[in-house]
Amino acid sequence: QGVEAMKVDDTPRAKSKNLDVLAEYEKAKTKNAANFVVIGHVDAGKSTLMGRLLYDLKVVDQRTIDRYRKEAEKMGKSSFALAWVLDQGSEERARGVTIDIATNKFETEKTAFTILDAPGHRDFIPNMIAGASQADFAVLVIDANTGSFESGLKGQTKEHALLVRSMGVQRIIIVVNKLDTVAWSEDRFTEISTQVSAFLTAAGFLSKNISFIPTSGLHGDNIARRSTEGDAAWYKGPTLVEELDNSEPIARALSKPLRLTVGDIFRGGVQNPISISGRIESGSLQAGDALLAQPAGQKCFIKALDIDSEPSDWAVAGQNVTLHLGPHDIEQHLKVGDVLCSPKEPIANVREFTAKVLAFEFLTPMSVDMHRGRLHTPGRIREIIAVLDKGTGMPMGKKKPRIVKPGQVARVVVELEGEGGVPLEAPGRVVLRGNGETVAAGLLE
Ligand code: GDP
Repeated sequence: QGVEAMKVDDTPRAKSKNLDVLAEYEKAKTKNAANFVVIGHVDAGKSTLMGRLLYDLKVVDQRTIDRYRKEAEKMGKSSFALAWVLDQGSEERARGVTIDIATNKFETEKTAFTILDAPGHRDFIPNMIAGASQADFAVLVIDANTGSFESGLKGQTKEHALLVRSMGVQRIIIVVNKLDTVAWSEDRFTEISTQVSAFLTAAGFLSKNISFIPTSGLHGDNIARRSTEGDAAWYKGPTLVEELDNSEPIARALSKPLRLTVGDIFRGGVQNPISISGRIESGSLQAGDALLAQPAGQKCFIKALDIDSEPSDWAVAGQNVTLHLGPHDIEQHLKVGDVLCSPKEPIANVREFTAKVLAFEFLTPMSVDMHRGRLHTPGRIREIIAVLDKGTGMPMGKKKPRIVKPGQVARVVVELEGEGGVPLEAPGRVVLRGNGETVAAGLLE
C-alpha cells in the first residue's frame, strides 16, 4: 500500500509557526461553512427560488436583475429573470442572451453557504450526484399547485430525495413552493407536508431532520422576509433564510486525521510554481506541514496557503483552500482527485471496498467505473452481499442475490483495477457508472 513506497523528502521545509490550529479556529470564530444541494421536479421553481434568495440577500444587485428582466421581457418570459441569477446553463439564455458571472455563494449572520449545483440543467442527475456527494443538507422544492405536486412525487421528487439520502445526506428542508397559485391554502400545505413527511421517513430521514416552509419564490414570501399580511399570514414559522441559519453547526471532523481531496492543480509563477485547491474534508493544516499525496505515496509540504484568495496561516475541515506546495516535482505525482493527508495518519490505498448503494439500473456482478468526487477508477461489482430495507438498512430477502433492481438499496463489494489501489475510506460517498450512465450511488462502509 503506497505508504511503504514513500520516499524520504529532504527538501527544506517552509517555516512552521507551530500553531495550535484548533485553538486559532476557536479564537477566529469564523462563520460556519455549509454546502447544500437544491433538488426537486423540473419546473418546481428551484432556480427562481434561489435567484430570489440571492436577490433578497443583496448578493445580486437591482441593476443586474433589471437587466435580466429586460432581456427576459424581450423574449416574452419576464418571470425567468430571477431564475437566471443562478441558472447559467439554461437553454433560453443560450439563445443569444449573454450574462456575466452568476453566483452560488451567500452569507447569513451565522453561516457562509455554497449552493452546490445550479439547478435547471437538462443533464440534471449527474450534476446533482456531484452536488450531493459534497452536500451537508438538501433543499427539496415542491410545486404546491394542484396536480403538479402529485406528478412530481411520482417522478423526480422521490428519485432525488432517495438519491441524496443514499449518499449520506441527513437533513432536508422542504420548500412547499408556488403557494400563491393555490391562494395560500393552509390545507394544501398540510396535505403536502403529511405526504412528503411519510415518504421521507420511509426513505430513512429522521423526523427531527425534516422541516417544511410554505413559500412563493416568484413573489418572495417566507424566503428572506415573512409574509405577515393577507392570505399568507397564517404561517408563523421560520423563513427559509432563518431555517438555513437554524442549522446546528455541521459537526466538522476537525480533530480527525487530515483529508483533503485535490480539486484542481495550478502551475503558477516563480514564487509558487505548484499549487492545488480543494476542500478539507477532515482535520486541519498549517503552513509548514508535511503532507503525503495518495495514491502516489509521495511526501510534500505546505509552503503557504490561501483561503478565498487571502493568505492564511492555517485552515480547518469544511474550508476550501489553495495550498502552495513544495518540492516542485511533487507535480509529477499529483492528479485531480488525489487525497492529501498527514504522513503520520495516512489514508490507505485500497483495491476493494464495500458500499451501501441505491441502484438506478439493474446491478449484477458487472464492470463499473467508481467515482469519488473527481477521482475515478475502473473496476467491477464483485459481489452483491444483500438487498437492504430502505428505512432500517437491515438485509432482507435471500443472501447474495444475483441481481439488484432499480430503486433498491444493496450492500455490494467493488473490486478496482490496477495494482496500487486508490485512497478510499468510510464515510466517503461513491458513485458507480457504467456505459456513461449512473448505475448506483452510496456510502462506503
Ligand atoms: P426549475 O426548473 O425548478 O428551476 O423551475 P424555474 O425556477 O425555472 O420555474 C419554473 C416556472 O415556474 C417559471 O415559469 C417560474 O416563473 C414559475 N415559478 C417559479 N416559482 C414560482 C412561484 O413561487 N409562483 C408562481 N406562480 N410561479 C413560479
